[in-house]
Amino acid sequence: MNANANLITERPTFVTHLECSWTGEIYEADKPHNLSRAGKPLLVRYDLKGVRAALSKDELSQRPNDLWRWRELLPVRRAADIVSLGETTTPLVPLARSKVGGGGEVLVKDEGRLPTGSFKARGLVMAVSMAKAFGIGHLAMPSNGNAGAALAAYASRAGMRATVFCPEDTPEINLSEIALQGASVYRVNGLIDDCGKLVAQGRETTGWFDVSTLKEPYRIEGKKTMGLELAEQLGWELPDVIFYPTGGGTGLIGMWKAFDELEAIGFIGSKRPRMVAVQAEGCAPMVRAFEDGTETATRWENAHTLAWGIRVPQAVGDFLILRAVRDSGGFAMAVSDEAITDAVASVARDDGLLLSPEGGATVVAYRQALTDGRVRRDERVVLFNCATGLKYPLPPMHASLDRTKPIDFAKLA
Ligand SMILES: *Cc1c(COP(=O)(O)O)cnc(C)c1O
Repeated sequence: MNANANLITERPTFVTHLECSWTGEIYEADKPHNLSRAGKPLLVRYDLKGVRAALSKDELSQRPNDLWRWRELLPVRRAADIVSLGETTTPLVPLARSKVGGGGEVLVKDEGRLPTGSFKARGLVMAVSMAKAFGIGHLAMPSNGNAGAALAAYASRAGMRATVFCPEDTPEINLSEIALQGASVYRVNGLIDDCGKLVAQGRETTGWFDVSTLKEPYRIEGKKTMGLELAEQLGWELPDVIFYPTGGGTGLIGMWKAFDELEAIGFIGSKRPRMVAVQAEGCAPMVRAFEDGTETATRWENAHTLAWGIRVPQAVGDFLILRAVRDSGGFAMAVSDEAITDAVASVARDDGLLLSPEGGATVVAYRQALTDGRVRRDERVVLFNCATGLKYPLPPMHASLDRTKPIDFAKLA
């Protein structure tokens, strides 16, 4: 027997209600929801006193090492609704040899190890499991690639239909992956928010359920496990700074929520990391809003960057990202595509870790922040690599050998 106890054991659950993140208005749990009446994300609330009484660090440490070990802080009520493809705890890989460190401790949370090769699996495994609990049969979303792949995989696993709309320049590998994993996928001549409008427009005709980032409440609950995991991996002592490649911001908002929940259940103290939202120079709405001191962000026109995962011109959770960044004493910064490409190459060469471009962006941001003094060399820093570099177009390799001719091995090296 090799069954994962996390997937089959019934455990007490503690969701009390959902709450509008803008107005605080309360919504009933255990039925499907999209945005609140104010058009803002809904957040899941728990009886944290109950969790505190039910879960100890010791008990937690005995459970299998995956996302489902956090059941008391997750929304899925019945084990039978869990739709799993093996959501393993992801490692913290120190960047030892590359020149990034400059003396400080730099840990990469390598999310490329998750099913479908990106951390979108964390969000979608939760959204699809909840959709299963609600008896929903058809899910739809816009995607720059990774989210669509995760949706396709989990929807197929759960026996549901999935429809995905991608910007037309989405990498071929992502589109093929989505299609192979059983979803209907379409290239659309627009950006991700244009694709999102199609999901909304088709809803009445098709009856599909919209699982766009933050437009349903459960993807964030899945993404929040990054914060839970990180705390446990670091011995319940959060790092000094977290660099997060920010598109829709689900992960950043989710981790910030996770830290509050961990404090409420007595697992950590009040220390928080400074949260740094990293964006690309060609699409930096959060950086602009952060610098302008505004509470929300305006759409970034003509968005472009090779880091597709963070090419999000407008985010429905903009104010939540900005609040978390500001409350944490962090900041937002933009980096160039050229610097991203160089960083991916240097970490691959020096550390043997093939980052995604989005992960590379956090390396660039860290280097810049060290230089301008916003981060000190003695601080412990966590960089998020949110997908495996293998999901992206890689530079060509030209060397070849003719084995029928003499080979000068001394020159090969
Ligand atoms: C989606 C994605 C991001 C952005 O994540 P958000 O939580 O939506 O901001 C970053 N990197 C990669 C690889 C992604 O797929």
